[in-house]
Amino acid sequence: MPTTAAELLHQEARYGASNYKPLDVMLTRGEGVWVWDLDGRRYLDCLSAYSAVNQGHCHPRILQALTEQASRLTLTSRAFHNDQLGLFYEELCTLTRSTRVLPMNSGAEAVETALKVARKWAYQVKGVAPDRAEIIVCAGNFHGRTLSVVSFSTDDASRDGFGPFTPGFRTIPYGDADALEAAITPDTAAFLLEPIQGEAGVIIPPDGYLRSARALCTAYDVLLILDEIQTGLGRTGRLLAEEHEGIEADLTLIGKALSGGFYPVSAVLSHEAAMGVLRPGEHGSTFGGNPLACAVSRMALKVLVEEGMIENSAVQGRRLRDGLARINNDAVREVRGRGLMIAVELDPAYGGARPVCERLREAGLLCKETHTHTIRIAPPLVIDADTVDWAIDRFTTVLAQG
Ligand SMILES: *Cc1c(COP(=O)(O)O)cnc(C)c1O
Repeated sequence: MPTTAAELLHQEARYGASNYKPLDVMLTRGEGVWVWDLDGRRYLDCLSAYSAVNQGHCHPRILQALTEQASRLTLTSRAFHNDQLGLFYEELCTLTRSTRVLPMNSGAEAVETALKVARKWAYQVKGVAPDRAEIIVCAGNFHGRTLSVVSFSTDDASRDGFGPFTPGFRTIPYGDADALEAAITPDTAAFLLEPIQGEAGVIIPPDGYLRSARALCTAYDVLLILDEIQTGLGRTGRLLAEEHEGIEADLTLIGKALSGGFYPVSAVLSHEAAMGVLRPGEHGSTFGGNPLACAVSRMALKVLVEEGMIENSAVQGRRLRDGLARINNDAVREVRGRGLMIAVELDPAYGGARPVCERLREAGLLCKETHTHTIRIAPPLVIDADTVDWAIDRFTTVLAQG
């Protein structure tokens, strides 16, 4: 059995599809903000599995909830009731001030679910003619990898060679409320967007944009769908990023940190007027709402709130952004972010973000480049001030080497 990093790498390359290009590190253990490779080297995780491990790696209370539930009951399918689902619903709805929830597994499935609900709502409630419903999306979006979702991606690598695509989507520029108003027609069912575009490189829209989008959607009878799969659950220093502008979406999508990284769990949060269009048999998932997922999610939400991770995200996020912004190096063009969702934009003359990520790895920080010149920094929300300062110090050193 292969056991060295080189052998395991070779195995991956020999048998796996090559749809990812990971950094050269083979991880075997995680605890809190730290992960360890096979040689016992420790790294600060500055990606948090794209915000799926906001609560930190292998959080002991979530682990306990997982093992307890796994030894009792894991899956019943929704053909029968299970004694965790109602508890999960109520706790999630209370926390997010929602009134209806639909559980799924991956983030992309939550997106698909919302698109289906929005179309059904358009026909049943708004009165759009059959097969005419349209959904407005933003350029630069990332909502997952299923066929319908990549149908409205504007990223060539996500789309090329995967057609024909699902019709019924219209793309507008991100952050432009006038463009939204101009794009709305009587057939518009919904407007789908990320409160901050994560994969696009932590793109923050202008102040007031979400409020304008909310007002336009209300005025024109259009559902507002916020994809908070990455921004939600404390990442931006609030439970949901929509809170920064004091709005509420009609459909809110969460996933990733909903399980603290233990298990794929996603959900669509909504209200009766939208979710009420679904009848038995019209949508579902074998694993959606299973008791293991519910028990894990309940604890993942509980520790997020009880252990002050949302507030810590705001406090340490500010400390990390300020520290990075103080790095006196021409390579850094901009530091932006909200809470612990941060991006460092490098000067194009500097030689790209990937080599910097390689050098950061050598210095004990695992970061991921997005596009050519952007480094995303999103550690677990349990990071403390000393570790933030250590990371800033490492960053400063690595950039000075360039
Ligand atoms: C990760 C992500 C998704 C897709 O989630 P998967 O679990 O990978 O399907 C959708 N939207 C956003 C904003 C994401 O960050």
